[in-house]
Amino acid sequence: MPEHKLKFGSATINYTLHFKERKTLGIKVYPNCTVQVFAPMDANIKVIHSKLKERAPWILRQLNEFLSYHPLTPPRKYIPGETHLYLGKQYKLKLLISDSNQVKLKSGELVIHHKIDVSPKDVLNNWYKTKATDYFSKTLNNSIVLFSKYSIEVTKLQIRKMSKRWGSCTSDGKIILNSELIKAPKGSVEYVIIHELCHLVHHNHTKAFYDLQQRIMPDWKQWKERLEHCLV
Ligand SMILES: [Zn+2]
Repeated sequence: MPEHKLKFGSATINYTLHFKERKTLGIKVYPNCTVQVFAPMDANIKVIHSKLKERAPWILRQLNEFLSYHPLTPPRKYIPGETHLYLGKQYKLKLLISDSNQVKLKSGELVIHHKIDVSPKDVLNNWYKTKATDYFSKTLNNSIVLFSKYSIEVTKLQIRKMSKRWGSCTSDGKIILNSELIKAPKGSVEYVIIHELCHLVHHNHTKAFYDLQQRIMPDWKQWKERLEHCLV
């Protein structure tokens, strides 16, 4: 699919362009931050561009409203010296053959003890999963107290890998968190949880939703930024 770029102020919007049997220009913004533009068959690229410029503030607003998942780390090779993230801090990887599998954090180092026939990657992923379960439940319990004025109920916390979202929730009170979030700073974990809890009060991204989020976590923007830009 041809990728196009639209510069608007300091932002760049990447979009794919599709020519279709239609009369007007259509724009779709998806939760994974992709933008699709549908143009009439005979539309001129310059005209499309100037129309998109007019709609750019709306596109950026849509992109900004999705709590989208952006991987915090590029793929890892699990070799000594490589850096790995845990709660927003970087650790240097160290591997040790051992008779049991475990992970230890020690002065800037993440030490993976692994049996000779077990891959360090599996040991680390299991450790991340255990840590995510503990830390997310603890943070959820601390955050829900802030909602005592609202009659919300979390029926279930589910933690799993998601390729497009950091978190989501269902109308019956289930909160789903991306296990990768354990690599993000503590404030960002709290932000995602509070964002989802606010959705149990207001389902959509309305002004009332943002007012509530602002009241509960006045510095949420900073943690959202950290989550989306702490690429290492
Ligand atoms: Zn949301």
